[in-house]
Amino acid sequence: MRRKYIGYRLLFMTFLGFLALLPAETAKVSPAHIAIVGGTVVHPERNGPATLERDMTIILSGQRIQTIGPAKTTPLPKDALVIQAGGKWIIPGLIDSHVHFFQSGNLYTRPDAVDLNKWVPYAKERARNTARLPATFKVWLASGVTGVADVGGPFWNFDVREAARRSAAAPRLVVAGPLISMVARPQMALDDPPIIKIDTPDAARALVKRQLERQTDYVKAWFIHRKGDDLAAQEAIVKAAGDTAHAAGVRLAVHATELLVAKAALRAGADLLVHSITDQAIDDEFIELVKKNRALYTPTLFVSMGYALALSDSWKPTEAELRLGDPQILQAMNDLKKIPADELPERIKQLMSRKVAPKPSSAAMSNLRKVWDAGITVVMGTDAGNIGTVHGPSVFREMELMVQAGLTPQQVLLSATGNGARTLGLQADLGVLAPGKLADLVILDADPLANIANLSRIHRVIKDGALFDPVQLIESIR
Ligand SMILES: [Zn+2]
Repeated sequence: MRRKYIGYRLLFMTFLGFLALLPAETAKVSPAHIAIVGGTVVHPERNGPATLERDMTIILSGQRIQTIGPAKTTPLPKDALVIQAGGKWIIPGLIDSHVHFFQSGNLYTRPDAVDLNKWVPYAKERARNTARLPATFKVWLASGVTGVADVGGPFWNFDVREAARRSAAAPRLVVAGPLISMVARPQMALDDPPIIKIDTPDAARALVKRQLERQTDYVKAWFIHRKGDDLAAQEAIVKAAGDTAHAAGVRLAVHATELLVAKAALRAGADLLVHSITDQAIDDEFIELVKKNRALYTPTLFVSMGYALALSDSWKPTEAELRLGDPQILQAMNDLKKIPADELPERIKQLMSRKVAPKPSSAAMSNLRKVWDAGITVVMGTDAGNIGTVHGPSVFREMELMVQAGLTPQQVLLSATGNGARTLGLQADLGVLAPGKLADLVILDADPLANIANLSRIHRVIKDGALFDPVQLIESIR
């Protein structure tokens, strides 16, 4: 039966050769049918032997999965573009539940954390990120990430969502607008602030309404609680934002990293916790509150390490980042070397003088195991865009840490697929490989359940039925 396909295969190879000659946007192929033949289909949501189906054929028709069946007995449509997948693994497209497109991951992207305006003005950095958006979309796809949630940024975020919808090469995208914040961040305001300090429930309702006019997917609260702050008053502001969002059928995402504050956030209606609890072990009351809200829990284990590494000039790209990251960002990661030592900001001097290598929060690590065992829905998220956490391949750093925290590779993969689909609100359509579902999937050269790092061994990426070669995607943005 195989011989019959050789004709198509040759045609396909010629086509690929032709593609290599084409410029940027055309790293994509959208045939009527794609047949992925002879691969191992991975079902992260199943248990036991049913998790893997070997020697299978997947037929895609337009944007959807049409058939999944044994390779020996599944006929191929005559016009199918055939991908030979013997010795390969096919997983649902990855989903990152926590990113920020207005931030690039470089050293200049958070002037509130470290002010390097003298070397690169912040306005220039934001303009750079806008201009670079098509490339940023591509690094996500190249990393096998076909869906992302931008959980907070300027009103510009709604344009980003529109740009992704129109782009030939972009992940699926849900967004939140400016953060309903307990603290001010004037360093980042420019003319479209990503973070807005809100002092009253009325002001919260007003800002949420402005975002609802733009069909926001989430309302995001930045629940920063410092010593001396009135927690009940803060909770009332977050609840006003949440109630206004919920009345419009929109979910509430909250940044709350201390147990006490996260409980207040959940009482205020949080549907998505965008970070781990990092100050202490979670307790039964927290678990009950999460379950009552059916809230999602995003660990973001790497992001604080990213800051510590980058701001101490000890950030080094991983092998996956070298292959799949934005070359412009990687190149700028060690810019501190260009700044005279005595002109470095104080925070950087402090971090540089530290002798111990940064580690993820130990409370966050042990809480991840606890929330998973309690049956809470964990969603993989990187907080990409923050200093040291680059868009795209930082997912592999994050997932590696989740395994170190005690999850199995399969559990981590579930958090980044079926669970992530809940963040996007697309769980009926996405996150599993089954007939009728949207055709977002990744073909891997190595077994992701044997080693989580194999998730970066990406052969091809398919989003919405369109085929991408990660090598071509990155070549097109060099
Ligand atoms: Zn964030």
